[in-house]
Amino acid sequence: MKKLIIANWKLNPQSSAEAVDILDFLSSSIQDFAVKDNFAVIFCPPYVFIPKVASTVESSPLRSISHIGAQDLAAQDSGAFTGEVSGSMLTRFGVQYVIVGHSERRYKMGETDEAIHEKIKAALRNELVPIVCIGEADRDGNWNDFIRGQCEGAFMGLTGAELAQCIVAYEPVWAISSNPNAKPDTPDSAVEAVRIIRSVLRRISGEDNICPVLYGGSVSSSNVVDFVGHPEFDGALVGGASVKKEEFAKILRLVSEIKS
Ligand code: PEP
Repeated sequence: MKKLIIANWKLNPQSSAEAVDILDFLSSSIQDFAVKDNFAVIFCPPYVFIPKVASTVESSPLRSISHIGAQDLAAQDSGAFTGEVSGSMLTRFGVQYVIVGHSERRYKMGETDEAIHEKIKAALRNELVPIVCIGEADRDGNWNDFIRGQCEGAFMGLTGAELAQCIVAYEPVWAISSNPNAKPDTPDSAVEAVRIIRSVLRRISGEDNICPVLYGGSVSSSNVVDFVGHPEFDGALVGGASVKKEEFAKILRLVSEIKS
């Protein structure tokens, strides 16, 4: 299976010209190394840059390794929901993936497990792959129960076939680079969490390894190989480093060199 690298641009960059500049830089850097078939990149820009990012990727060497994602979607498909963007609108713009339940949306915008469950269903009925973020705020005594609960809240009630369409990103909130004193998790400790996540998915679906599970939290060129090269992780969700063009190009180069 290909390793997946999700580029979550968050509320960056500030203009579509800057977005194109990042992509142009990546396009020229990926020509320097043999782009292997071992990974794919999913660019998740802010909504307004999606058409420009999609057309730029499509007409560049990035095309063979890239897909377009969004950072969120509405739980509803239409109606009186000011400010929302639906899954069907995203699909029409060539979006194939959507991040759901990012910790910044859970904690800064108050998204609940119920809302996240509805958004996963909205993504699936619109043929989008939901990239569902799961992660504890602190590694305190109950962190494993917390992860289990978040995972059940997101996925309970989905069929095995629906779960097989999802991607999970284990993102410990304390490791996300924008948080004070953030530091990356270690592969060994993140594996513990990934095993809890996989056990909930197995209980719901009745199947082993039903969907890819990624790691996210302060991923950079200095640790990406430790996570993405580890057999328990199917890839990485990269936030801050994904809009730093030199750093992200380095990350892609390192991932392309990982032996599958
Ligand atoms: C994220 O936004 O999900 C994330 C993991 O951010 P960062 O890589 O900056 O820690």
